[in-house]
Amino acid sequence: KQQILLAERPTGTPDKNTFKFVETDVKQPENGEVLIRTLFVSVDPYMRGRMVDAPSYIPPFELHAVIEGGVIGEVVESKSHQLEKGDIVIGGYGWQTYYTAKATEVRKIDKDLAPVSTHLGILGITGLTAYFGLLDIGKPKEGETVVISGAAGAVGSAAGQIAKIKGARVVGIAGSDEKNQYLKEKLQFDETINYKTTSNMKAAIEKACPNGVDVYFDNVGGEISDAVHAYVNKFARIVVCGAISSYNLEGEDIGPRVQTTLIKKSALMQGFTLGDFSDRFSEGSAALAAWLQEGKLTYEETIKEGFEQIPDAFLDLFKGNNIGKLLVKVAEQ
Ligand code: NDP
Repeated sequence: KQQILLAERPTGTPDKNTFKFVETDVKQPENGEVLIRTLFVSVDPYMRGRMVDAPSYIPPFELHAVIEGGVIGEVVESKSHQLEKGDIVIGGYGWQTYYTAKATEVRKIDKDLAPVSTHLGILGITGLTAYFGLLDIGKPKEGETVVISGAAGAVGSAAGQIAKIKGARVVGIAGSDEKNQYLKEKLQFDETINYKTTSNMKAAIEKACPNGVDVYFDNVGGEISDAVHAYVNKFARIVVCGAISSYNLEGEDIGPRVQTTLIKKSALMQGFTLGDFSDRFSEGSAALAAWLQEGKLTYEETIKEGFEQIPDAFLDLFKGNNIGKLLVKVAEQ
């Protein structure tokens, strides 16, 4: 089987030297274990944080060990009563083509609900992040203006649609005209801004949000967020979901200070990690699945094919080469 290890801890943007491909033997399952063949591997921005040896809400990746992350696989051999051959499971065992797991390490998923890959996206971590971040912290009300940065990505596109479901006016910020066309035409966003071609972000926000900003769901941080913060309304809620613009910085992230804005506007700014809501995942999953089945929620996936594409796919996240959830398809179901 093939594995990808963390070869060195990157400074700045990771490159080919960050990763090492190795071949090892497949371990036959023992009692209580299953052998899983990887079908889809998820690549996610948070993984950049785990490449650094620094305290966080989740431990760093170990050097020279397999890079961990969300995976969908098929059970090809079972020595457990809990799972049988052919079951589709989700796990966190990461960048490897096969894995021998204790049956309790993975969770069987319903393969009839939606394509199995959605459990890594709209029905999984990214969908749940949008759901809890937007609804529990952002609390959008009908008619309010919700601005989403990283709007065409996995979390952003879900958050924008949930805001629309709640009756808000939604403005998306993304890095290409193609993405913005998708947001407007497929996801019914009310306005969009291409931050890469807009010379004056503040003016663009002012124009797109004539009534100011009530909720800002922030996936990117940096200068985009500085511009949005300038237009928040009284009692605005700023949901700090991610700060991808800073993940590859070599030094500290600096910028305008936000304190006086928060004071003047009595605004709330709150960060979170999805784990904060772990006791309510079933609520979130049920809501997302229902909206998906009712046609109120849709999703896009950018799928790269082939195990060897995983590092490049991961780096694509920082180049903006994805619409919706970025996944790597490793084998046919
Ligand atoms: P995405 O699918 O949104 O992919 C990343 C996108 O970020 C790219 O497509 C790109 O789009 C944009 N981007 C990359 N670099 C920059 C930059 N320098 N400035 C502005 N935009 C940039 O990823 P996810 O949906 O999985 O994650 C979105 C955010 O949510 C991330 O910050 C992630 O860390 C965070 N997150 C937080 C969680 C939590 O529990 N708090 C859980 C899961 C995710 P574009 O073309 O628009 O630039």
